[in-house]
Order: sequence, then C-alpha cells, then structure tokens
Amino acid sequence: MPQRAVFLDRDGVINFNHGYVHKIENFDFIDGVFDVARQAYGLGYKIVVITNQAGIGRGYYSEEDFHRLSDWMCGVFAEAGAPIDRVYFSPFHPTAGIGRYKKEDFSRKPQPGMIVQAAQELDLDLPNSILIGDKASDIQAGVAADVGVNILFAQERPPELDGVAYHSITALREALPFLGGGQPLLRA
Ligand SMILES: [Mg+2]
Repeated sequence: MPQRAVFLDRDGVINFNHGYVHKIENFDFIDGVFDVARQAYGLGYKIVVITNQAGIGRGYYSEEDFHRLSDWMCGVFAEAGAPIDRVYFSPFHPTAGIGRYKKEDFSRKPQPGMIVQAAQELDLDLPNSILIGDKASDIQAGVAADVGVNILFAQERPPELDGVAYHSITALREALPFLGGGQPLLRA
C-alpha cells in the first residue's frame, strides 16, 4: 500500500543556507526541523530529502563530498528519532554546469523528477504527502508532482507563486498541524 511522505528541501529547510554548504562545520540545523521530522516519523510518513545541488555541477564540491555530508546528516536525524528514508539530489545546472553536469534535467527543481523517482522507488502516495521548501521552485516541483500539501517556509511570498495553491509558514513548527494525527489531509 502506498505510503505518505514528507519531502524536505535541504538548504533553507533542514540547514541554514549559507551558500553551497558541503562541510559538516557549516551545516547548522534550523530550529524545529527535528520536531517536524519526529512527528512525521511517528505518524508513519516516509521522510525524503530532495535537494538541488548545483554546487556539484559547478565544480565547487564533489558528489563524494555531498554523500559524506548526507551520511552524517542522516545519522543526526536517526539519533534524533526521525530516520530519513532517502536523500535525492540533482547535481545539474543548465548553464553553469561543467561537463556532464551542464544540462537541463528533469531532476532539478522546479521540475518534479526527484519526487517522481521517490514515488516510484518508495511506493509513495503523493496526493496525501507533504512538501516543505523555502523557494518557489520547491513549491512548483511539488505542485507538478501532485503532492497534496506544499508548504513554503519563508518570510515572503514569492510573486512566481501567484495563482498557485500552497501554504506559507515562517517557523518550521508551524508545519506540525499539517501532518495531522493520521486523519485524511485537506487539499490546499
Ligand atoms: Mg532551499
């Protein structure tokens, strides 16, 4: 039976976006992220990270660097009682990528490729899933993939999202009510 998921963007949702973060010492968790992840895990959601990582394509750091940081991050979540099921990343950039990384790719948000791949690999129920992102491109990817509840964690509402149905929060714990207590979720 397909399972619900909480999709988390990484930079700007899990950790402060200091710009192309690729080292543990620069990875600062954002307040409330473990509360959201723990509640999600407790309610039976899969926890899936979907992150654009054009810093790889730009040559700022390697896929190995990314995986090393991800392994550490996943360890911290597991210790916090909220194990991450899978991390998806898109290393591409359409203009600034180097070599094979220079391309328009379906995996790069605002395209929904990472969510679509996760749904296939993890057997996810997207209309009853939740996405939390900090940019318009996160919301656009979630809407394109038919994720039921898309939540923007930001101080301002981007004009690109005019006419798009999404929710807006300014602190991560404001996402907790959207997880529900196992009840069917209302569509935005
Ligand atoms: Mg982000």
